Amino acid sequence: MELSLKQNFFIIGGGVAGLSAAYALLRHGHGVTLADFGHSGQSTWAGAGILCPLLPWHYDEAANRLALGGMQAWPAWAGEIARQSGCDPEYWGCGMAVLGETSRQAALAWCRAHDFAAEVRPDGGLWLPSVGQVRNPRLAVALAGAVAALGGRILPHCEISGLRFRAGKAVAALAGEVEYAADAFVWAGGAWSGLALGELAAAPNVRPMRGQMLLYAPGSHRLDHVVYQAGLYLVPRRDGHLLAGSTVEDAGFDASTLPDTLDRLHRDACALLPELRAHRPLRAWAGLRPGSPDNIPVIGRHPDCDNVWVNTGHFRYGVTMAPASSRLLAELMLDMAPHLDPAPYSWDAQLGRGWKSGSAC
Ligand SMILES: Cc1cc2nc3c(=O)[nH]c(=O)nc-3n(C[C@H](O)[C@H](O)[C@H](O)COP(=O)(O)OP(=O)(O)OC[C@H]3O[C@@H](n4cnc5c(N)ncnc54)[C@H](O)[C@@H]3O)c2cc1C
Repeated sequence: MELSLKQNFFIIGGGVAGLSAAYALLRHGHGVTLADFGHSGQSTWAGAGILCPLLPWHYDEAANRLALGGMQAWPAWAGEIARQSGCDPEYWGCGMAVLGETSRQAALAWCRAHDFAAEVRPDGGLWLPSVGQVRNPRLAVALAGAVAALGGRILPHCEISGLRFRAGKAVAALAGEVEYAADAFVWAGGAWSGLALGELAAAPNVRPMRGQMLLYAPGSHRLDHVVYQAGLYLVPRRDGHLLAGSTVEDAGFDASTLPDTLDRLHRDACALLPELRAHRPLRAWAGLRPGSPDNIPVIGRHPDCDNVWVNTGHFRYGVTMAPASSRLLAELMLDMAPHLDPAPYSWDAQLGRGWKSGSAC
């Protein structure tokens, strides 16, 4: 049952986790204010926008459930956001080729069991036709536009240092001398959400995981689908640009790029697509993913306070998962029946998951 009274929510973090949560709550008729500090290295801008785990058969079912739910929702969700905002996030159902997968039989068995389309290519690789992509910087603009179109208020360059509490309830978000009152709060601070937020001492088990990326100019290739091989992916954009990525590095909050790493990425990209040898990358950047053990996000109530919620730790697949994780968060916040079992994403569930050594995925 949905609570019918209009509530006012305050969201901390303006990446895809915060913006998609805002959009979901607004669509249920509630009021939303969202604050973002604008950290460099924020993940949503920097990502590749591939809408599928790499590779789903290597992941835990709890991560896949949200990712597959997101994949299914994406085409309609992208259209809706484009209509609301007037900005096209460039959803493209381009498909993905997986080359050199050593466990092909196990991969095909997983695909059959999950009703996930897969074919064997003439070169022995796998073709996954249901994999799509979006263009991250446009997605961020489109989601912000859709939030504004539904009456949401976005506060840019606004750092929230903590919450004010009264009688055990959070009543306002604090930004310097300014207080923003709300009925409930969502902590969606991406890689920064592993830091304590003011007096909220308990923090989700999230840490920054850097990803470095290269961009090639239109004309450098003729690729029309995503290609993945041994940790490297190539993503062609509709206007001819091409991305090559990415690293997964436990480097703290350092969002710089490293010349040696970029050289290696370029060499690997050329080995995968020899036509790139005649070109130098146009640009490079790095982003900080909200890393979590097993790639399973935390979506649920904060243990310290009943009206504080968390939507974070989507690690490598926050864009893929966004339609499903924001839907689940809104269902929990509004006391509606959840469309999937929320237990694996609860605060308590993450406490039982540890980081594996060299935990890159
Ligand atoms: C190189 C790279 C490639 C990727 N490729 C893919 C991919 O192909 N497919 C996919 O699905 N995912 C991909 N991802 C992962 C995906 O981008 C992330 O999971 C997702 O963007 C996380 O979103 P977020 O909103 O949690 O974090 P962010 O986008 O980092 O947003 C968090 C925001 O919170 C703000 N914030 C933090 N603290 C405060 C505060 N105290 N007050 C106010 N604001 C605050 C920050 O400024 C930031 O803008 C990739 C990521 C990277 C870096």
